[in-house]
Amino acid sequence: MISRDGTCMSVWQNTVAPFNSQHFSISDQIYDVVIVGGGITGVSTAFLLQQSGKKCLLLEANNLCYGTTGGTTAHLNTLLDTPYNAIANKFGDDKAKLVASSVREAIESMKRRISDINFDCGFRNATAYLFAKDEKQEKELAEIKESALKVGVDCGYVSSMSYPFLFRKAIQIEDQAKFIPTRYVYALAHEFENLGGIIQEQTRVTGVEENETINVETSAGNFECRALVYATHIPPAVNLLHLRCIPYRSYAMAVRLKGNNYSEALAYDMEDPYNYYRSQEIDGKTYLIAGGFDHKTAHEEDTEYRFLQLESHLRKSFDISEVKYKWSSQYFEADDGIPYIGHLPGHPGNIYVATGFGGNGMVYSTVAANLLSKMILGQNSLYIDLYDPNRIKPIAGFTQFIKHNADVVKQFASKLFDADKLEVLADLAPGEGRLVKYEDHKIALYKDEYGKLYALSPVCTHLKCDVRWNSAEKSWDCPCHGARYAIDGKVLTGPADRDLEKIPLAVVRT
Ligand SMILES: Cc1cc2nc3c(=O)[nH]c(=O)nc-3n(C[C@H](O)[C@H](O)[C@H](O)COP(=O)(O)OP(=O)(O)OC[C@H]3O[C@@H](n4cnc5c(N)ncnc54)[C@H](O)[C@@H]3O)c2cc1C
Repeated sequence: MISRDGTCMSVWQNTVAPFNSQHFSISDQIYDVVIVGGGITGVSTAFLLQQSGKKCLLLEANNLCYGTTGGTTAHLNTLLDTPYNAIANKFGDDKAKLVASSVREAIESMKRRISDINFDCGFRNATAYLFAKDEKQEKELAEIKESALKVGVDCGYVSSMSYPFLFRKAIQIEDQAKFIPTRYVYALAHEFENLGGIIQEQTRVTGVEENETINVETSAGNFECRALVYATHIPPAVNLLHLRCIPYRSYAMAVRLKGNNYSEALAYDMEDPYNYYRSQEIDGKTYLIAGGFDHKTAHEEDTEYRFLQLESHLRKSFDISEVKYKWSSQYFEADDGIPYIGHLPGHPGNIYVATGFGGNGMVYSTVAANLLSKMILGQNSLYIDLYDPNRIKPIAGFTQFIKHNADVVKQFASKLFDADKLEVLADLAPGEGRLVKYEDHKIALYKDEYGKLYALSPVCTHLKCDVRWNSAEKSWDCPCHGARYAIDGKVLTGPADRDLEKIPLAVVRT
């Protein structure tokens, strides 16, 4: 089993064994490229660069697939969350066509990799359905269909579909796909190592210094490289992109059905937020995997209720014998609807980033890997301008703002708090967390199943917003830019790269 950035278990965590690195990093070597992040984006990029002859080091703060890749639902789509009419309105028809061709090529290149390396990750081509349930959705669906056809996505109306939902109109989209993301990433990671690449887990990148080469500071010492890729889902430290990518949580479930009536197709309704459905066979057992009920990170007080809503929604249409897995995970949506892939804003040299994938990161991760590897290899691509992160306008005063926020002062270093008093004040049930006010301080307090209290400063180490309790995943989540922390303050999800400050507790007996 592999770990993930939450306490709920996803359907994918048991599909691979923990990774055992074959090679070790060498600190006095200059690497051509350091790739930061061992999700699908980092591993795909590292693989392509190593295959092209670059000497690569992949650094992962936790374990491979610890982030959203371990908590995804792994549909591969060319019909995207941002409809092509919306992309065309914002960027023009030609760019909408380019987006469509980049995602089509990404799926084709994934297929090629699976066949060339010859591994099984449950990859299947699949038809997808998008269905409208009322007049407004029907009108939207017509626009989505027209714009999809215009950019070359093959789709058309159907009168029935292999899902038990009532609908007014539905379209069928051809040549979509699904797979087991962890098996895909692990297979590429092994091949990357076979080609001489190095993977180092449990190594968090904490800073970079750009000179002639790039000095990479990490929790396990320093490394040197010529180019660096942030494949961390959202770049760490403080960057303009944090104001352009909005963090959301989405809820997913893998259930077993009575009667084995699983559809091979993918399906999506048009609610806001929308629900998504597909099936996957894993080691001889098939699951219906469904998700939805998204909200902005830390903008929902009762996150466990979202699971109840999802389950009750599914039970209305499916005869469920068992809910096997339920989990939530995070995605970052670009404010203008398409990802940011290329030079990290503020770093025109050799630091690259791939972020803002929204709910299409399974396919955009490969778009990113294909594009970034070309850029680093000095090759041209039709997609450089399209996804350029520097298309965003700089914000006046942003540099001052960063300086002002960069120094997080330790507030609690010299204080000792009375655990008994805090416990009485907070009155927490085991497994519960809450922000409490005590002696003019706000404290993020959690009580574990055995009654042990954990006290933290609630001030997010990224940009100083107060974190909020996420009861579903037992984490402290930041409502501003989506940083997340474990009950002991450890960073779970960026952009934060430093843990929450621990508050020392003492049992003071009188
Ligand atoms: C519930 C849900 C369902 C989804 N379903 C789909 C779907 O069906 N189809 C689809 O296309 N997309 C889907 N997505 C989106 C998709 O899963 C993500 O976009 C994708 O997994 C992102 O992959 P990544 O490699 O970029 O990031 P991640 O998988 O998050 O990997 C980033 C890695 O970087 C590491 N890291 C972070 N900071 C550092 C640091 N400082 N130093 C070292 N390592 C670091 C993390 O530990 C992590 O392992 C879904 C998202 C959610 C939330």
